Amino acid sequence: FPTGVLCKGSGEDPTIDIRGRRWLFWGKMNALVATSRNFKQAAKLLGLDSKLEKSLLIPFREIKVECTIPKDDGTLASFVGFRVQHDNARGPMKGGIRFHHEVDPDEVNALAQLMTWKTAVANIPYGGAKGGIGCSPGELSVSELERLTRVFTQKIHDLIGIHTDVPAPDMGTNPQTMAWILDEYSKFHGYSPAVVTGKPIDLGGSLGRDAATGRGVLFATESLLADYGKSIKDQRFIIQGFGNVGSWAAQLISEAGGKVIAVSDVTGAIKNPKGIDIEKLLQHSAENHGIKGFNGGESINPSSLLTEDCDVLIPAALGGVINRENANDIKAKFIIEAANHPSDPEADEILSKKGVVILPDIYANSGGVTVSYFEWVQNIQGFMWDEDKVNAELKTYMNRSFKGMKEMCKTHNCDLRMGAFTLGVNRVARATVLRGWEA
Ligand code: GLU
Repeated sequence: FPTGVLCKGSGEDPTIDIRGRRWLFWGKMNALVATSRNFKQAAKLLGLDSKLEKSLLIPFREIKVECTIPKDDGTLASFVGFRVQHDNARGPMKGGIRFHHEVDPDEVNALAQLMTWKTAVANIPYGGAKGGIGCSPGELSVSELERLTRVFTQKIHDLIGIHTDVPAPDMGTNPQTMAWILDEYSKFHGYSPAVVTGKPIDLGGSLGRDAATGRGVLFATESLLADYGKSIKDQRFIIQGFGNVGSWAAQLISEAGGKVIAVSDVTGAIKNPKGIDIEKLLQHSAENHGIKGFNGGESINPSSLLTEDCDVLIPAALGGVINRENANDIKAKFIIEAANHPSDPEADEILSKKGVVILPDIYANSGGVTVSYFEWVQNIQGFMWDEDKVNAELKTYMNRSFKGMKEMCKTHNCDLRMGAFTLGVNRVARATVLRGWEA
């Protein structure tokens, strides 16, 4: 069976129960199954009450809307949009909106759940949510994207808000998308810049937000390597993805003296064992809409990128890319999860036996939502921070979370993923009980 195919289970192991039905998976695991499995393992380590566990897993609200827009040629096109609001025990729900052809309800659900644990790991006063529209943004014109974003906002405006649910960019969306949401939302509720984060600076966006996820990845990588007596300067990196997260991570890591030896994006993959000139690659990518054709390295097959020889592998693109099909062939010693759920629990098992250390997504990529929080705080305060302050605060938050995660690893004698999950889940469970949860 090809990777990613999902078939109805036949009753024998390893079938998995989702939403009352049993399913069997080959290769890439279903995102919701993978995320829920990690959560359940953390709940077990924490000894959570089984009713509380169940209630923490079930989303607060799932929204599905139909978005029909006129295309530029006058025909109509319909898209399905989702917003899953997972949990609000610790504050307003928070998370990005993704425009991608692979968006489906289970994936959005999993990503919303991950946001709940991520904001708790970062210890910022938010819950978790995620949205998405199943579309291919590259095939839509700017005005079609604007119409789609506005229709989606019209359908969910009553369910989001500064103190209820605050969207942000994710895959396929950007500060311009946030500007359209802000404008459309403000038509119904009055001008409300804090209703979205990741906005353009001219509309109340924060300095440093654009680079924040990549910068957080840099700080996280520094902490992890230091723990193993290593430094960025003596490591060879491979980065999958050259979008907002991957390109900033590549730039900041190479500025810090790391050698980036291979990079990929949707257009192709390149390798240069002597180190890729990231400045030049950024320029090439901006001029050619992708890294394809870059002459500062040899072009390789993108599917072999993850299994090339390196010290640190940074998946910074789609989920589920490291799974039981390829985990055995991974040569990196460290994996930094800049993407959301790039490795599934089956891959975790294989990699842990090989001694590969994985820095989990809910910590490693939390720099983005952390600076989103700073942006929201600045909007509410009506006061703009300078970029040095944003970056310094981000470093404090990232380092504090790293320590918290490591302490949980000691307490529960577990790996970093369970260290991060137990840290996050425990904070959400405590808030839930304090607010008056009853079994
Ligand atoms: N989409 C980003 C994430 O997955 C950022 C979310 C936010 O800033 O709210 O963490």
